Amino acid sequence: GSAGQSAGFACACPVPAKQARGRAHPLVRTSPERCTASLADLLSEYTKNAEHGIAGEKKKKAKANKLTTYDPDIEEHILKIAGTNGLLMAEFLAHGPIKETDIVERFSPLMDRKEVHQALYALRDGKVANSTQETVRLPDKKNPWVQYSWYLTLDEALFHLFGKEQRVLRDLKLTVEYEKTNNFYACPSRCMKMTFDKAYSVGFRCPNCGAEMSYLDNNPAIDNLKKAACMQEMLCGEIESRCEICRARQSLQKKRSR
Ligand SMILES: [Zn+2]
Repeated sequence: GSAGQSAGFACACPVPAKQARGRAHPLVRTSPERCTASLADLLSEYTKNAEHGIAGEKKKKAKANKLTTYDPDIEEHILKIAGTNGLLMAEFLAHGPIKETDIVERFSPLMDRKEVHQALYALRDGKVANSTQETVRLPDKKNPWVQYSWYLTLDEALFHLFGKEQRVLRDLKLTVEYEKTNNFYACPSRCMKMTFDKAYSVGFRCPNCGAEMSYLDNNPAIDNLKKAACMQEMLCGEIESRCEICRARQSLQKKRSR
């Protein structure tokens, strides 16, 4: 419907456009009928929107600065931590904060309450989403209950991702140093390789097959590790350049060093 398109999202749900208006996301069911879209329908809709989103982002430069679930790094991260369910849920939360009861209702019967919870908590653990809570009291109910509302925290997610990739980079650099500063001996059957000290302690015999171990030229391995570290450094720089929190921290450090 037109309401959906203006929000950059076309709904796979058979909800009339005129009902999907106001602050509600077009995927929020406003009709009493159950949502009949399957998970596959939603996913193909998501893919279409992703393509549309990328084209739209090129047109609108301002919009390109805003992180969305269509950002390739963010999307990959979400799929890794929360799977397809998590990705669909994150896309839905883009118009958040959305009450948890509404999320559960929206994804029923595709996912039961437990699956919705699992996806939401996986998103929270990956810094993709967070929730606020409020205590709700109804006059006709004796006990109040806690109502959770969920919203996206994609800047935090990108910063989390940056930290993760930075650790991979640090480990790669440490491995390069380790390879450069040690001499290695290897079994001809490639059972294992070990440092000189370790090889000396086993009499240069492979503990697995008993073959004589010989000196291993690890320069090709070092070259490959260096290439990997270089690629990783580029990835880190690329994420850092888009990361709001990285930028904020950098300017804070600059102020402090003045
Ligand atoms: Zn061996």
